[in-house]
Amino acid sequence: MLSTMQDVPLTIARILRHGTRVHGGSRITTWTGDGAPHRQTFAETGERVARLAHALRDELGVREEDRVATLMWNNSEHVEAYFAVPAMGAVLHTLNLRLPADQLAWIVNHAADRVVLVNGSLIPLLAPLMPRLETVEHIVVVGPGDTSALDSALEGHPARVHAYEDLLAGRPDAYDWPELDERSAAAMCYTSGTTGDPKGVVYSHRSIYLHSMQVNMTQSMALTDADTSLPVVPMFHVNAWGLPHAALMTGVNLLMPDRFLQPAPLAEMIATERPTHAAAVPTIWQGLLAELDARPRDVSSMKRVTIGGAACPPSLMSAFEERHGVTLCHAWGMTETSPLGSVAMPPGGVSAEEEFAYRVTQGRFPAGVEARLAAPDGTFAPWDGSSTGELEVRGPWIAGAYYGGADGEPIRPDDKFSPDGWLRTGDVGSISPDGYLTITDRAKDVIKSGGEWISSVELENALMAHDAVAEAAVVAVPDEKWGERPLAAVVFHEDESAVPYDELRTHLGKDLARWQLPERWTTVGSVPKTSVGKFDKKVLRKQYADGELD
Ligand code: ADP
Repeated sequence: MLSTMQDVPLTIARILRHGTRVHGGSRITTWTGDGAPHRQTFAETGERVARLAHALRDELGVREEDRVATLMWNNSEHVEAYFAVPAMGAVLHTLNLRLPADQLAWIVNHAADRVVLVNGSLIPLLAPLMPRLETVEHIVVVGPGDTSALDSALEGHPARVHAYEDLLAGRPDAYDWPELDERSAAAMCYTSGTTGDPKGVVYSHRSIYLHSMQVNMTQSMALTDADTSLPVVPMFHVNAWGLPHAALMTGVNLLMPDRFLQPAPLAEMIATERPTHAAAVPTIWQGLLAELDARPRDVSSMKRVTIGGAACPPSLMSAFEERHGVTLCHAWGMTETSPLGSVAMPPGGVSAEEEFAYRVTQGRFPAGVEARLAAPDGTFAPWDGSSTGELEVRGPWIAGAYYGGADGEPIRPDDKFSPDGWLRTGDVGSISPDGYLTITDRAKDVIKSGGEWISSVELENALMAHDAVAEAAVVAVPDEKWGERPLAAVVFHEDESAVPYDELRTHLGKDLARWQLPERWTTVGSVPKTSVGKFDKKVLRKQYADGELD
């Protein structure tokens, strides 16, 4: 028997209509560096979204399913594209501006992007790629920037260049959004491709809608129209973790950092604009903490900060709490999981002291994310808080395949999807009886020493808890006797003199077994980072293999 409920598709246009009408007075503030921030209400944003959709359709000929790419910072125009493109039935493709040129060109061609919206400041990145971009017909330049590099790069290329504001000018500020199938493609994002070619994840209207509701839930980011959220996480990194969509749902004001992502301007915008929430990877918060130690500012308006994308060192959490009254809330996810897979809000009824133990885990699964731990022998490990296995997940905002290219079938590699369709995350960990996940390592980062596994994350967290250490990354290096052993790469605080490695070993020995302690050490100026700001262990392993680390 079918229900008697209305069958209303869960679409981006619905989020847009709701956000711009019911929360029309909420605001997007974009930081501009030295000048006054740019401010725009959700109602004004809705009108500009409609104008953009008219321009894309009438001037550039964008049709349903066409891919429209963005090469942009976090700003109000990027939010406009986030809504206009999917709501009109096309597909938003956010490009990671930190990827190497070869990967970017490969991704644009693979997705068959017809239009690229580019911030003026990023033209130097796009122009040299143009001769290799086979499908791009239109480039729309957003904000000020010197377009001369584009003009010369486009000699012999059919693509035309447009100015964003000129395109929008004079167009109607309402649009008759089509009623779309909620399962159709709304947005796409490529994983950073640590192995093999990058893989495209295609989000549906439905998956984004449901994920946005989850972002706003009290046991998640708990955002309302009383909040101002600062997504430092780029809008090309898994849709800024869902924040722009979630904001339109509940009227959360957005503070957009644009290209000002260094610790000093971040501290400045937090102190001035007083956001109540922010989201970023751990390396951003490490940098901000050091900046605040050097030049104190009041950042206590941030009642909550969502931290994820890599394991958050517990020492970082305590430092923010003790020195700045800011609570960091740990969350786990991936490009393939939209990304919110779990959030470490402590359960009700636990004491303040007990809370910390929950907050340092990767968090609890929300309704909508089913999880299991696949053991090497083909069984599933129990949720007892200690048995480990590879985390597999499934749910309405979890990928079931990768994009196969313009003409291809979706791809389901065996190492990424189980035979019964669950996503294999590549993360190894345990789950407590009440559904809290602890990730001990990525399968490819775990150190396999003489038949035992050493968690690189555990060593890093313990090292970063030492006062002299600013950053520490631990990687497996080959060892004749044990197969692999840990190598610790340490960055000491500038204002502290480096301490002997023996002292760090003794410090680690307080919590870890002797056989887990590294005997190979190196001091580095900084730990190499990936395109989304995580420790790049692949680079460290290569530097070691090439004899570049003493
Ligand atoms: P990439 O694989 O290129 O880093 P993603 O951003 O999709 O791209 O990264 C997902 C991975 O990041 C997860 O599989 C996990 O290994 C790691 N990760 C994300 N959040 C956390 C977290 N809170 N703790 C530990 N690892 C995390």
